[in-house]
Amino acid sequence: MPGAIVTGSSRGIGRAIAERFARDGYDVAVNYVESAQRARAVADAIERETDAEALAVRADVGDPDDAADLVDAAVESFGSLAHVVNNAGIDQHVYTEDLSPADFDRVMDTNVNGAFNVTKAALSHLEESEGGDAPTPSVTNVSSILAYTGAPVECHYAASKAGLLGLTKSHAGDFAPDIRVNAVAPGHVETDMTADRSEAEKREELADIPVSRYGQPADIAEAVAYLRDAGFVTGETLNVNGGELMR
Ligand code: NAP
Repeated sequence: MPGAIVTGSSRGIGRAIAERFARDGYDVAVNYVESAQRARAVADAIERETDAEALAVRADVGDPDDAADLVDAAVESFGSLAHVVNNAGIDQHVYTEDLSPADFDRVMDTNVNGAFNVTKAALSHLEESEGGDAPTPSVTNVSSILAYTGAPVECHYAASKAGLLGLTKSHAGDFAPDIRVNAVAPGHVETDMTADRSEAEKREELADIPVSRYGQPADIAEAVAYLRDAGFVTGETLNVNGGELMR
């Protein structure tokens, strides 16, 4: 089977993407930075429930050496690397007046530098790959609806997600025609990242979502699988937000 890397796939959206890729016939590297047990449980479940090989790999994507080790581990185990999903991300709710430069950098390091580091390390392997069942190899970056709207209480997060859209279009041109590069921009998705909402905040948020529900990780995995397989789509951002922001 061709190989895939899904960064930040010990839980949440990344986990759903890794499971989806395994069901679709790809061996998957399940990347984490802290949750070793959870990542191993995800990898074990994938191997139990599908024919895919799954490898739990610790790597801080913000560290270029870790990113290179992650790619090497995947290629060594799977023999090829057809797709990369840069999903690992962190956020932090703090207004600018209380935001330290170190915290600003931490969010940028994971969310933007992480995607750059993993993509750069994977480039030569993707170029050599046939892409599996997809028409060509691909990179998909997980951005956010906040890339467009901004977010007063998390300016660094919004800036990082907007940065990913620039990276996506730049790499789509740079790597064409061999590798397609796209982004997905989720709206509100139920994961650990959004678990701290009060009931009142949830009611307020849901009132702004036309489909009247939160997104589920599988909704985003569906969009990423589409981008993986869509041979005539590159440099594009797929907005998956229940109609909250229609562009
Ligand atoms: P989550 O539940 O908080 O999971 C984050 C994942 O990223 C975990 O697997 C975590 O690993 C991993 N991670 C964090 N820092 C890392 C690092 N430096 N290196 C490698 N892995 C790292 O988040 P989520 O809600 O599923 O979000 C996934 C992506 O979707 C993020 O990029 C997020 O910004 C984006 N997104 C989410 C929403 C939403 O509503 N949930 C909306 C728009 C966009 P550990 O478990 O080891 O910590």
